[in-house]
Amino acid sequence: ALTQKLEAVFKRLRGKGKLSEADVKQAMREIRLALLEADVNYKVVKDFVQKVTERAVGQEVMESLTPAQQVIKIVHDELVRLMGPKDTKLNFSQSKVSVFMMVGLQGSGKTTTCGKLGLYLSKMGKRPLLVAADIYRPAAIKQLQVVGEKVGLPVFTMGEQDPVAISKAALEHAFRHGNDVVIIDTAGRLHIDDELMEELERIKEAVTPNEILLVVDSMTGQDAVNVAETFHNRLHLTGLILTKLDGDTRGGAALSIKAVTGCPIKFVGVGEKLTDLEPFYPDRMASRILGMGDVLSLIEKATAAIDQEKARQLEEKIRKEEFTLEDFLEQIKQVRKMGSLDQIMSMIPGFSPQKLQGIEFNEKELVHIEAIINSMTKEERRNPSIINGSRRRRIAMGSGTSVQDVNRLLKQFEQTKKLMKQLSDLEKGRKKGRFKL
Ligand code: GDP
Ligand code: MG
Repeated sequence: ALTQKLEAVFKRLRGKGKLSEADVKQAMREIRLALLEADVNYKVVKDFVQKVTERAVGQEVMESLTPAQQVIKIVHDELVRLMGPKDTKLNFSQSKVSVFMMVGLQGSGKTTTCGKLGLYLSKMGKRPLLVAADIYRPAAIKQLQVVGEKVGLPVFTMGEQDPVAISKAALEHAFRHGNDVVIIDTAGRLHIDDELMEELERIKEAVTPNEILLVVDSMTGQDAVNVAETFHNRLHLTGLILTKLDGDTRGGAALSIKAVTGCPIKFVGVGEKLTDLEPFYPDRMASRILGMGDVLSLIEKATAAIDQEKARQLEEKIRKEEFTLEDFLEQIKQVRKMGSLDQIMSMIPGFSPQKLQGIEFNEKELVHIEAIINSMTKEERRNPSIINGSRRRRIAMGSGTSVQDVNRLLKQFEQTKKLMKQLSDLEKGRKKGRFKL
């Protein structure tokens, strides 16, 4: 909803040629409201709007941008600044077993995140040990064991003994078994209380963690920010992990939590699966909030949604320029699994809406496309260049569409082919490590 609101503001700005101070002020009022409705901390909003206004009115003139684009750029920059700087580095011990302590309220996602982080670290070449130190909920130990099994990591348990003793013993165990990092799953409560904080402080004292990571539920908005402040005051957190960003969050927590607590967001949870953990990139998040291009997440989404083997075959075809209309149809179906096509196209940098017009389709058109392609001969599908005027008329008749429809489809196909080639080149660049993830 925040994204839609901001998009609406920017759309109005784009409609104007030169921006007056009044235009900017009006836009800022709307942005301010959108942020407050998204449950962003009001002090953060006030600061934010002030900074953007100063910069926008004091106009940093940039030749290549229109006035509206300049405002958008300033808002984007300031969003990045608000959530940044990027700080996803984890602190490991050089000579000893590293200790990561996960803290947070009940239900925030600690246990799940222990598994996610463990998996992430093992992909980095680490050998994590998960530690069950939440002894109050009967099912908590079992839950961590299940998570551990799913990600193929060992889980250290000692039943319902003192969490401090468990944590110490786990370190010892890790040392003897060649685990180089322990991830301690601590207990949470529904609300912050002294008893919980004291227990966490005792664990901290006993094992001197390299990282104390607060797991917070982003769906809880301002509460998440308050919780983070309290935990930070008591425990001096080293980082935050925001979970459930995949859900229907209003975005407020992500926007204000760093600014209010001064504590970096290191990771975000974006789903219930144990692979759904991502390092936090303020610029990507800002782009997402603004609904602007983010080609890296596009590529990630694409590789996840498209069946790997099919993707490989497709890549081969695109490279050899053998991409056919049949593949095109298949591709449209695949792409639609990722979300609306407009949304996906808009993530490709350099794709202005004008360029989009040639290859825009809606649900109804998709049915047309399928019918048109079905009315073609095999030969025509493989080699569209042979489709001359009389063939076009025949195909239109056969599919119950018009010659214009057929023409449009052929144009869309050519454009998509070009786009696919671009994407494939980008993907190659990423694999070569030109983009850092
Ligand atoms: P804990 O009480 O803090 O240990 O929380 P759990 O790890 O048991 O998680 C509570 C619920 O949140 C579970 O149903 C998880 O599957 C869910 N959960 C955790 N992280 C995420 C996330 O990033 N996205 C979504 N959608 N659900 C999550
Ligand atoms: Mg738990």
